[in-house]
Amino acid sequence: MVALAKRKRGWPGAGGQGQFCTAELKVQPALSWLDEHDSDKLATAMTGVRRSESAHRADAPEHVIESERHGGRELWQPLVRHDDIMRNELLSRAGFDPLPHRSNECYPCINANIDELRVLTEDRIRLIDITEQELGFTKKGKARVRFRPSRRKNAVGIRVVLKWAEAPRARDQLQLFPINKCDSGFCGG
Ligand code: SF4
Repeated sequence: MVALAKRKRGWPGAGGQGQFCTAELKVQPALSWLDEHDSDKLATAMTGVRRSESAHRADAPEHVIESERHGGRELWQPLVRHDDIMRNELLSRAGFDPLPHRSNECYPCINANIDELRVLTEDRIRLIDITEQELGFTKKGKARVRFRPSRRKNAVGIRVVLKWAEAPRARDQLQLFPINKCDSGFCGG
């Protein structure tokens, strides 16, 4: 993510660039791998998307005959009707406990919620802080920061965002200005 932000001269979701992280870090690498190993497009792609995860996923289909995001391959999302209880029962049967957070592959996701921000480690905070400083400002003078200030009470920069996340009313403010979710099926939510 840091290398991508430096190459793009900004973080995903900022400055009208769109949420390019999913395409660059997940969709394109997955498609390249699939094209190399499944050139006849015989594979069926599967995800763990569930409709109850977010409003963005409320209409997620169980089957797609030709999924554009999977290079025209068939897509099967067998858990679309599972709620948390049903999901947890499956995990329990397999011998796992549910994670208390979304998957950490981008640790943290640009859509991280308050609880995920609160558990960031200092080394990760420092990496984001240093990168934000290296990226500097846009031509319009806006700081190139990982988390959009407009969704976090105008908190600019990771250190200020964390202070906001610790504040008792942060949760109420998040209700008023909900943070975007990724509905690609490639990310945790
Ligand atoms: S997990 Fe979050 S930061 Fe990572 S690619 Fe998906 S939307 Fe972007």
